[in-house]
Parts: sequence; structure tokens; C-alpha cells
Amino acid sequence: MQAQRLALFASGDPSLSTARTLLDNAADKLPSPNGVALAIMQLWEDEHATVTQLAHLVQSDPALSGRLLRLANSASTGLRPVTSIPEAIVRIGLKTVGELAVAFSIIDVNHDDERCQAFDYLEFWSHCLLMALVSRELGRVTSIAPPEELFTCALMTRIGLLAFATIYPQAFSDLLDTKPSDLAAAERQQFGFDHNELSAEMLTDFGLPEVLVEPATFHEHSSKAHFEEHSRGAKLATLFHLGYQLSKSCLEEGIGEASQASRTKTLARRLGLPTDQLSTLLRQSVNEWREWSKVLEIPAAPLPPADPQAPADDHASGAPGSKLKLQALLIHAQGSDHPLQQLLETRDIHVHACDEQNAFLRLALQIQPQLIVIGEDAHIEKDRLCRLIRSTEWGKKVYLISILDCCDSEQVTHALSSGADTCIRKDIGSHELEAHLLVVQRFFDLQTKWEHDRAELRHIANELALNHRRMELLSLTDQLTGLPNRRSAIEALGQAWNMSDRFEHPMSAIMIDIDYFKNVNDQFGHAVGDQVLIDVAHALRADIRKGEGCYRMGGEEFLLLSSIADIKQLIVVAERLRQRIAALRIQHAKHHIKLTISLGVAQREAEHESFDAVLSAADKALYAAKAGGRNRVCFLHGTRIHTITPR
Ligand code: GH3
Ligand code: MG
Ligand code: MG
Repeated sequence: MQAQRLALFASGDPSLSTARTLLDNAADKLPSPNGVALAIMQLWEDEHATVTQLAHLVQSDPALSGRLLRLANSASTGLRPVTSIPEAIVRIGLKTVGELAVAFSIIDVNHDDERCQAFDYLEFWSHCLLMALVSRELGRVTSIAPPEELFTCALMTRIGLLAFATIYPQAFSDLLDTKPSDLAAAERQQFGFDHNELSAEMLTDFGLPEVLVEPATFHEHSSKAHFEEHSRGAKLATLFHLGYQLSKSCLEEGIGEASQASRTKTLARRLGLPTDQLSTLLRQSVNEWREWSKVLEIPAAPLPPADPQAPADDHASGAPGSKLKLQALLIHAQGSDHPLQQLLETRDIHVHACDEQNAFLRLALQIQPQLIVIGEDAHIEKDRLCRLIRSTEWGKKVYLISILDCCDSEQVTHALSSGADTCIRKDIGSHELEAHLLVVQRFFDLQTKWEHDRAELRHIANELALNHRRMELLSLTDQLTGLPNRRSAIEALGQAWNMSDRFEHPMSAIMIDIDYFKNVNDQFGHAVGDQVLIDVAHALRADIRKGEGCYRMGGEEFLLLSSIADIKQLIVVAERLRQRIAALRIQHAKHHIKLTISLGVAQREAEHESFDAVLSAADKALYAAKAGGRNRVCFLHGTRIHTITPR
């Protein structure tokens, strides 16, 4: 986890601290599908529930899985990080997991002001689940990593999208409406970071190890990952990419198309997987996905015609009915028309009646009533039901009325202490009921106002965070080249120094200066000089790898900050940069401007007391490169300068 952080800091990405602030804001608000909530509540009611059953449910939902892993890992500092849900449950204990799952199982995204209109929540959950199942299957047949870990990681690897939809419902919806061809690029432009970076930060925060998180970040484009060929990282990135591609095209085009696509076949070959196995593998995952979807009520939409075995989806989401002024849910004994129902309806309250606990929970999740009335004759354990309702986020806001046979002190005390807001007698008269309803109305007026204020505050806070992020970006970015500027470099150097102090992580710096740049200005003018700086900056940036950061320190000077430990490898990097710039031809009018750079390389050494010392060592090496004739790399070790003779 720390290494991952270091890599991110070393890459000089200042956006991540803001991403963190935003995530802390939204951490407990990421929504879960209603079906998961219902299934967990039912299981929670069952005294014989097992870890396996609960794990099965929890691990279908990215948001819940994330919360659980985070809790398991934060509660066990010093122990090996937990990377799968069954392990997390064992570590935290079934009871706590149940409480946590129930508490967060219903996060209402039905409020228009909180819902990201253009984001397809159901499609998101559906895709995540299928990708997780496919990745687990791929893990089984390739043995690249434990299948359960792949499942967990793949399930959550797109959680950044859900976070954007939650933190910026309006702005993200507007952005999705523009249907950008490169969503990640559009997100970076709008928010300063993209969903993959956000997911990586969240997965790291949940406690998943860098070895999984980093490859998973490249699931959309494994070719962009900079892992060494044949390394485990490269294989994992390919596996996640294949999991993503197969599940995506399976949902869009069906199993046949997905397993025959040349793109998926190429990826499969890269993993050493016979391509004729793809369709069987995918079919297995899809079957499991269907079973799972039925329980969870995530719509396993019928796949396109290529999959003739697909049964029709009879579990399409129970879209919540349109909300009336006040929705009430009345639970009472079968077969009778409860007298209170009529009374409530005459007061413009829409009453849904049911007579059985599971039907009640299902309805409650669908309509999320503001008022719940538990009849005196309901065949359920009232206390348990009250407690269950109150343990959910949604249920905390409900007004709960318990009807009693007779309102004696003992019964009333009992009902109120189980969570009821008030008790009424079953033979209540209409005037008295009217008075009770006034209280209910007052309660909801206050609650509506409070929620409205809260939504507004949240909106303001998120806008502020976004503005802060824009300002931060402006102040940390060099406006000419778009590279992080000197200030950003100093921050990154400080962070890299601290990490290297704590974890003995290597810290390396390469100072770069364009040779005879003044001549370019003199010969072609300042504007062309500017263009040359932009081109050089792009060329340098194009060559950096994850874990490295490239900064414009000022004028025609750049810094590459790296965590490469091996000096030979570091010199190879510097030499490659030198050659790349020497090969650049910058066209201006009829001229092809040619350039060279000099580079000074240094690493943190025992006698260095601060990052300034590392920087100044790299500066000395650069000075030596200039003095030695320019267009070369010099390396300072102790007090000795080594020159790498240009080829
Ligand atoms: P050396 O090989 O010793 O580094 O020679 P040099 O000419 O590159 O170095 P010198 O320090 O003499 O000149 C650097 C020049 O870079 C001077 C300055 O006008 C120019 N410069 C600095 N910032 C910018 C900029 O943003 N745009 C342009 N066009 N020129 C810049
Ligand atoms: Mg220069
Ligand atoms: Mg200079």
C-alpha cells in the first residue's frame, strides 16, 4: 500500500490528495443495488446464516466490498492485508459485518438531486459482477493469481465511476451526456483525475495490494501499462483487460461475438490460453452471473441473440413507483382490511399494505416509505422488525407507528424502546389520528428542509473542492508545457524523501537542461523557442513510466524524479531521453530545428541530509555534462563524476 502511494506521489500527481478529500466525503454514500440490500436483510434475520452465505452476498457489490475490506484492513494494522471478502468477514466477525452490511445496504439514489441521471447504475453493477466472475474464471485456468483475489479486485476496479456519479451527480451526468470518445481524458479535464486513478486510490485505501491494484488500473488499456514483458504485472494487466473486454462485449453483443472477437483472442493468446476455451469459460461465468443476478435483482439483461440459452429476465429492477406526497407501508394480518388504511387514505397518504415480513422488506426497499405502520395483528416479531428497520440508513429517517391492542404503559415502553416513534390504539378515533398525523407532517416538513439544506451544503462543498482542485492544478502546473511545475516538484521531492526515509525506498533524480537554447530564441524568435519547449516537454513526458514524474523546473530545465534503484537502469533511462531529444526534428518554416540536452544523474546517498542534497548532486552532474561538451549524461556518486560517453 505504501509502495503504491509512493509510486503515485513520485509520479508527482497532485490530484490524489484532492481525490482523497472527495472520497472521504463520499465514502459511505456509494450506493448498492436494492436487491443486495434485501437479500442481506433477509439473511441477517436468519439465525443460521453462515459466513459463506453472507460473503456471497456482500461480494456481489463493489461499494459494500470496499467498505468491508477497508474496515478489515484498518482494524488490523501490522497483519497481512486482507484481500478477499471471506477473509475480511473472518477477521471482522460475522456480527459486525452483518451490522455494517445492513446499515449501508440501502443508500437511496432515488432522490433526483442525488442521482446521476446519465449514469446507468444497474448496468454498472451488472458489468462489475460479470467482469469479476470472468476474471475469477481466468484466474482459475491461468493460475496467475488466487481466483478469489482477482474476483474482489475486478469487482471494484471500476468503482471510480460510481464515486464520480456519487460525488458529482450533476457534473458527471452532464459529462456523460456529451458521450466523450475518451471518457478518462474528459474526466481528467473536468475533475483533474480520471475514474481509473480514482479507483486505484480507493482500492489502495481499501487495503488491496499494489501488485493487484496497479495492473487492474490498466484494465481498459493493458497496452498502456509499463510492466516488463512476461512479468507478473504484465500478465495481470492482460488478465484484467481480457476480463473487462469479455464481459463488456458479452453484455453488448452476446457470448458468441465476445469470445470470437480478434481483440479478445489476442489477449487470450498473450495469457497462454487456448482461444477455443473462451466461449466455455464465458458461458460458465454468464450462468453463474444469471444465478447471482436473480437473488440480487441486478438485472441480468437477456444477452443479445448470440446466446440462445438466455432465459428472459423476469427480475428486472422493481423501479420505484412514482412518489406521492407521503408513502406509507402498513404491515398487518392477512385477509383483513385494516381500518387504519382507509383513515390514512382519506388524508391523501398512499398506503401499501402487506402481510408478511419478506414481502414487507421487498416493498419497503422499492418504495422507501416515509411512514411505516405496524399493525397490532401482524404475524411477525415486531421488536426485531423495528430494530432491523432502524439499523438501516433509510430506516433511521422513517416515522414508525406501532398499533397496539391497548396502550398500557408496559406495551408502550416496549414499542418505543424497540424503535417506534409513537404508539396508537387499534381503535383510535379519527380526531386523535388527525392529531398524530399533524406530528408526522411536522416531522417530515423538518426532515425535508434539513435534507434540502444538507444537499445544498454538499453541493457547495463539492463545488468548492472542484474549484480548489482547479486552483491547485493551476498553481502546480506550468502553463506553457502543461508539465507539473517547480512547486509541484518540490512537493513531490519532499514526499519521495519522506517515503524513502521510512521505507528505505530508492530516490533518484535526473536534471535535464537544453543545450544552447538561447540560440534558438536568438535565431528563430521567442515564440518558436516556446514551441520548442513544448515539444521537448512532450517528448520527455512520453518516455516516463509509472512511478516517475517529469517537471519543468524553470526556463529550459526539467527534472525527472524516479524510484529506480539500479544505477545502470537509471543511466539507461537518461541515455534514452538524450537520444530521443537528439532525434527530434522540430519543424519551423523551412527549418528543421535540432536540439540536444545534457543530463545530470544522482541518487540519494547515506550522507544526503535532505532532498536538496540529492537535487544539488544532480545539478553538479549536469554542470559536469555541460562542461564536458554537452549532449551527454553524467552521474555523481560520492564526490566522483562519471561521464557516459555519448554513442
Ligand atoms: P547551455 O547549453 O549552457 O544551457 O546554454 P543555454 O543557451 O541553453 O542557456 P542559457 O542559460 O544561457 O539560456 C537559457 C535561455 O532560455 C535564456 C532564456 O531567454 C531562455 N528561456 C527561458 N525561459 C524561456 C521561455 O519560457 N521561453 C523561451 N522562448 N525562452 C526561454
Ligand atoms: Mg540550457
Ligand atoms: Mg539552463
